Amino acid sequence: MTLVILRLFHRLMRDKRMSTHIALTARAFGAKQLIYTGSRDSSLEESVDRITEEWGGNFHISYVENKLSFIKKWKQKGGTIVHLTMFGIELGNKIVELKQKLNENLLVIVGGTKVPGDIYQLADYNIAIGHQPHSEVAALAVFLDQITAGEARKEKHSNANVEIIPMERGKSTKQKNKE
Ligand code: SAM
Repeated sequence: MTLVILRLFHRLMRDKRMSTHIALTARAFGAKQLIYTGSRDSSLEESVDRITEEWGGNFHISYVENKLSFIKKWKQKGGTIVHLTMFGIELGNKIVELKQKLNENLLVIVGGTKVPGDIYQLADYNIAIGHQPHSEVAALAVFLDQITAGEARKEKHSNANVEIIPMERGKSTKQKNKE
């Protein structure tokens, strides 16, 4: 399975926090890569790489300049495209079909500012997480958690430097991979 997230329209400074949260959510809920368009932002890339180094896994962030050509290439290679939008079909109505796509290459698009009409046309699925406006982070978390049946977020990373020791109250971590 290749599960990749495409975040549209990143803006320097203004969107750093939101795009970082998209990356953290993508990583924590089972995606392997975040690709973003808009403005290239080395500080966003460095923050995400630092988090992956500390908390483990094989998550990558990268930039593409031309979103439409990237999306078209994804389709030409036989991959499936899901666009998350409140205007789409409620996830519950498509979940069985989408779970079957997990064995293929799945690209999940989240917007930012106004998403152009061609994205709606190019997507194989326009999926709503309810029909109220909320946030790309919330939409992504719910979508990924539902299609992975809550399993991906439980994954442990053998290459992590730090791991949480869960407890009822308080906070505890274990440093790993230290000589
Ligand atoms: N008009 C937008 C829409 O089409 O969903 C809401 C804009 S919202 C600020 C930015 C992004 O969050 C959207 O492009 C979409 O990816 C995601 N989003 C927000 N609400 C959503 C919902 N109810 N279902 C699915 N995605 C949603």
